[in-house]
Amino acid sequence: MSAATIERIETCLVDLPTIRPHKLSVATMYGQTLMLVKVYCSDGVVGIGEGTTIAGMAYGPESPEAMKLSIDAYFAPAMIGQDATRVQALMAHVGKLVKVNHFAKSALETALLDAHGKRLGVPVSELLGGRRRDRVPVAWTLASGDTDRDIAEAEQMLQERRHRIFKLKIGARDPKVDIAHVAAIKRAVGDRGAVRVDVNMAWSETQAAWAIPALAEAGCELVEQPVASAAALARLMHRFPVALMADEVLQGPDTAFEIARQHGADVFAIKIEQNGGLFAAQRVAAIADAAGIELYGGTMLEAAVSTVASAHLFASFAHLQWGTELFGPLLITEEILAQPLDYSDFELTVPAGPGLGIELDDARVKRFTRDGLVKVTNKSH
Ligand SMILES: [Mg+2]
Repeated sequence: MSAATIERIETCLVDLPTIRPHKLSVATMYGQTLMLVKVYCSDGVVGIGEGTTIAGMAYGPESPEAMKLSIDAYFAPAMIGQDATRVQALMAHVGKLVKVNHFAKSALETALLDAHGKRLGVPVSELLGGRRRDRVPVAWTLASGDTDRDIAEAEQMLQERRHRIFKLKIGARDPKVDIAHVAAIKRAVGDRGAVRVDVNMAWSETQAAWAIPALAEAGCELVEQPVASAAALARLMHRFPVALMADEVLQGPDTAFEIARQHGADVFAIKIEQNGGLFAAQRVAAIADAAGIELYGGTMLEAAVSTVASAHLFASFAHLQWGTELFGPLLITEEILAQPLDYSDFELTVPAGPGLGIELDDARVKRFTRDGLVKVTNKSH
């Protein structure tokens, strides 16, 4: 193949409203900011990627603004003129020049894979070894902060056959209040839906030791990241039969290996951004498989671009025992794709076209693109 080189890289920040406030133990979100990146190649192919965080900087050290800056100032100059067809080699090259910055790397790797898939006429899933499934189950997160509203939302999702796995965001309130909330929702959905919780590291080990059996009693089947420390999570693992999932502590293959080594989780939530890109996330999944740890496709509440990139990766996994939570595009009010994604019968269809298999609605994206780096005042506050 004649080499295609990278000619230029463009970034922008897009501010989109959410359908309702989204309450987590770390913050309440009223909107979502996407950092979109376009990689223009000398053969005329353009790849798109996305970097998105949960609630600005409340979740981790990167922000959409910081991703834009690091790409504009550091990644782009190192990538321009380089061979766009050797994605892993190019990402290794920039990895030497820029440490960590996992989210920005994921956005760029996504764009390079999208471009290369388009160039070769194959979906990104084929560049990752080939898909094993065309559709993935998608959980919904109930996080309005109000029990009755969450139950009504769950009923609506069941009726529309959109979701039957419900993840509840808890940890901000007294654990007793949270457990009553979980129990009420599980009572309402009964056998029609599965109930899981994500504590986002909010509990101490002693709080978790008290709360986890109560959650199991309430019918909760999975507890995600109840505590911050990997060591505490591993100790809790040996005490309770309910499945425990690692999320925030998974920051790439090294961390995955360490958690697997101490049998520190039953399930890994795999996130392409948190692990530093699709290939790094793929290696995390391989470690989980080798260790007998089950897999779940996680989200950083990304919009369509990174959601679809994740879907291509999850479609290639040998095991996906706990499904996915790739509902990010459904949490924002605006459709940014020319052709919306297919969410139906409790699953998402992984697009089949070349690259990511999606096309941005450029006019709509432009309408919500931030002018400069000044954050628009959030009207919901
Ligand atoms: Mg989580």
